[in-house]
Amino acid sequence: MMTTTIDEVLESLHTTAPAVIGGEEVRSGNLLEVIDPANGTIIATTLQSTAHDVDRAVRAARRAFASWRLTSIEERSRQLRAIAEGLRGRGEEFAILETLDCGKPLTQARTDVEVAARYFEFYANVIEGYYGSVFRLNSEVTVEIHREPIGVTGHITPWNYPIAMAARVVAPAISVGNCAVLKPSEDAPLTSIRLAQLALQTGLLPGVLNVVPGRGLEAGEALAGHPGIAHIGVIGSTETGRKVAHAAADNVVPSTLELGGKSPNILFADADIDTALASVTRGILQNAGQTCSAGSRLLVHRSIHAEFVEALAERFRRTRIGAGLDDPDLGPLVSQRQRRRVADIVDRGAADGRVVVDGRIQGNDGRGSFFGPTLVDGLAADSYLAQTEVFGPVLAVTEFDTLEEAIAIANGTDYGLVAGVWTSDVRTARRAARDIRAGQVFINAFGAGGGVEIPFGGTGKSGHGREKGVEALAAYTQAKSVVINGA
Ligand code: NAD
Repeated sequence: MMTTTIDEVLESLHTTAPAVIGGEEVRSGNLLEVIDPANGTIIATTLQSTAHDVDRAVRAARRAFASWRLTSIEERSRQLRAIAEGLRGRGEEFAILETLDCGKPLTQARTDVEVAARYFEFYANVIEGYYGSVFRLNSEVTVEIHREPIGVTGHITPWNYPIAMAARVVAPAISVGNCAVLKPSEDAPLTSIRLAQLALQTGLLPGVLNVVPGRGLEAGEALAGHPGIAHIGVIGSTETGRKVAHAAADNVVPSTLELGGKSPNILFADADIDTALASVTRGILQNAGQTCSAGSRLLVHRSIHAEFVEALAERFRRTRIGAGLDDPDLGPLVSQRQRRRVADIVDRGAADGRVVVDGRIQGNDGRGSFFGPTLVDGLAADSYLAQTEVFGPVLAVTEFDTLEEAIAIANGTDYGLVAGVWTSDVRTARRAARDIRAGQVFINAFGAGGGVEIPFGGTGKSGHGREKGVEALAAYTQAKSVVINGA
């Protein structure tokens, strides 16, 4: 792997990061500033794509689709593998860029780049064995069911795991022959743009992957409502998901919505406490809690409650906070706007419980958007902090007495993304997995993490549709039945 320095990455940001449309880099238009959340400095500019740019991108994708959909599986697989190798070969560059852009600790950014590479590699492998089916209906008729690509796919991604999310949606979409238009978040667009540039360098057909950086209310809305797309996916807030789903309905195209969560870790008295302690801590502090699947609620059995909360508090207090490039445990939040949002939620909800660790001032130097680990105990299940997605390093703790009560509390929010169940009793684990309303339940583990193989998505206000795994390909293909009489 080439070694890359921070100075080299900063130097590479001197020219405006462009939109990538049909293989061309587009820089003319209004620009957006990209801010390093560790210190508030402007590190780059990107094009602020307009509806016109989005329209050009969709048209370029449609043109490319005519040939890309007919390329051989071998060729598509080879091209995805080349992107994976390209990402790995330039892993340090992408990781530094990601950290500068969204603040996350460098080790986490390196993991995210590897996860992104894995998505391309995984779908390169999967399509080699992703077949349609054939059956004989009767003595005269044979039915072939083809899984066909659907056309141009639109993808709107967030700022919390930019490169990993971009890869998570683009890799499956293009692997089966679609052409993609990606609108990354205005708060962290740099690695998505560089991914499109890298893909061209590794030989991807121009127009297969187009990137239009810009604002949600301009480029995002234009993409979601474009009549030329066949599918729209969004990863973001429930509010944005609702708007995107409306736009999809108007165009009569399907949507995949991967929205927020208020995911519980449920800790029973017979659990392996040490393993749970490490996982519950990581589940909320990883990426400063800015994770859709963050374990932001802890439901803990009354008999072990006091001891466990004290052990957690000890870990929260020991957390090293700092600029992502210094590779601390906890970096800044993505922006001052997000910092204010998190602080407002804690201010409003903290009095409903007991603030055991207060992160509101920790690490706050006025320039970086830091917010320390925050632990609020004694919250009623229906209290504001136990119900509201914070998207910061804030853990809400609620006690329970019985399995039934724990499941009722777990299911007692509008969301349904992830749950963790900690117990050594198989029956408790199975009951919980059966009755918890969520897209995924982890037993004695927690976190969607890098498991590219595991289908992922939510229910309720967490959205609908599944990404990741082989399952994701269902959204990016449609069945065509070819019925042959007399054969
Ligand atoms: P957001 O939903 O506004 O942004 C996500 C993406 O959607 C961005 O690319 C944005 O430009 C785009 N977007 C915004 N409005 C749009 C619109 N009307 N039409 C089309 N695209 C649009 O999220 P945010 O404001 O950056 O963060 C707010 C909250 O959303 C967070 O605090 C968190 O609760 C939640 N969130 C969840 C996830 C997740 O992974 N599920 C990711 C980011 C944010």
